[in-house]
Amino acid sequence: PVRVRFCPSPTGNPHVGLVRTALFNWAFARHHGGTLVFRIEDTDAARDSEESYTQLLDAMRWLGFDWDEGPEVGGPHAPYRQSQRMDLYREVAEKLLETGRAYRCYCTAEELEERREAARKAGRPSGYDGKCRTLTDGQISAYEAEGRTSIVRFRMPDEPITFTDLVRGELTFAPENVTDYGIVRANGAPLYTLVNPVDDALMEITHVLRGEDLLSSTPRQIALYRALAEIGVGGGTVPAFGHLPYVMGEGNKKLSKRDPQASLNLYRERGFLPEGLLNYLSLLGWSLSSDRDVFSLAEMVEAFELSAVNANPARFDLKKAEAINADHIRMLDLKAFIERCEPWLRAPHAPWAPEAFDPAAFEALAPLAQTRLTVLSDITANVDFLFLDEPVADEASWTKAMKPGADALLASVRTRLAGADWDAETLKAAVLAAGEEHGLKLGKAQAPLRVAVTGRTVGLPLFESLEVLGRERTLARVDAALA
Ligand code: GLU
Repeated sequence: PVRVRFCPSPTGNPHVGLVRTALFNWAFARHHGGTLVFRIEDTDAARDSEESYTQLLDAMRWLGFDWDEGPEVGGPHAPYRQSQRMDLYREVAEKLLETGRAYRCYCTAEELEERREAARKAGRPSGYDGKCRTLTDGQISAYEAEGRTSIVRFRMPDEPITFTDLVRGELTFAPENVTDYGIVRANGAPLYTLVNPVDDALMEITHVLRGEDLLSSTPRQIALYRALAEIGVGGGTVPAFGHLPYVMGEGNKKLSKRDPQASLNLYRERGFLPEGLLNYLSLLGWSLSSDRDVFSLAEMVEAFELSAVNANPARFDLKKAEAINADHIRMLDLKAFIERCEPWLRAPHAPWAPEAFDPAAFEALAPLAQTRLTVLSDITANVDFLFLDEPVADEASWTKAMKPGADALLASVRTRLAGADWDAETLKAAVLAAGEEHGLKLGKAQAPLRVAVTGRTVGLPLFESLEVLGRERTLARVDAALA
């Protein structure tokens, strides 16, 4: 059975790289009818925070992910927060020490740096040189007497480590490039290098799908898994690894967590649909087919194969993300579209008083708005003329629309509107007639009216908008513009 995990550290706002990793793991689990384990890697007290933890869960729920084991759902390997599993890691470290698979290392940071520097100068690999691998009891007592502290270091095997990456194919790492590494700090705190593979082993993870930035830790982890199997920790199998390609941002640089474009909150706040954002993020390293960029999550799950994951870096393209999101907005049925817009039309997003919002008026124009939005937050600018007491005062729009002669045109429009039946078609005929009188086609003839009523030069189809706004408010706005 497939068992995968999503195991972020709660440090700061969730970012799109993290979401992509979650998505690929989730889709892989669902495609195979497997289990998704959600684990919180919060062993770094200095960097992790409860606030980030809460945000992370909230983000996962907003995105629509579900998990089979983890926070809020529990499971056979609970607890799923590493901060609550510390005793377990200490026990494993103890066992690794007892069986000689790890050892205490007394080298100080300065000593290590000095030797690294010397190795670099001599053109040798600069990993740990194994100095404390074979300390005698006498040397150990001497170090302890000196008051030196020690870390626990894992003993790497002296042969190459080879594995078949699910994305990149066969990879081999030479021992001189993967040297013994620390797994427990001098103060007794277990490190990511220990707790991540220990939990993968205990939780019987079968596939590790994660970012390429973690590729260099994989040979170390594979060696550790093997050692864990030998000392009877976990189910004894080494998971298969697949490393997802880097995501490149502006200027073809790696998209960093700190890049504002990488923040998930940005997309939420602009009103991306979770399914639109996930559709776009799925394309960062994967594709459904060469001729289809827009699809549902269900279609992704159905089609998701690791063999289709591309090892080449993927470029983050905001324009494309927006276009795909716009398509997903159009794909909503009208009722769902209206529901998704509602939060944007109410406080705290809306620029009008809460009681000014009129759901019936919004619903009348919703079908026209649905085809025009890129993100849900665009809805306010499209319908604000309905709920604000006065149209927005955008100086540039007014200047543009109120050319010399606009007053006379608008006055004639007003007269015709005042006597017209209040339906879009009649209103359009009235404006057409006023335009003819002034030698203007419809586009030019309606421009001053649009800005007088909506405050903008572009927007929803004007006559349908006027129909919903009503005669009284329309004429009052025209009068105010003429005054
Ligand atoms: N907690 C690690 C991180 O957020 C997980 C790495 C992994 O997937 O193994 O980078």
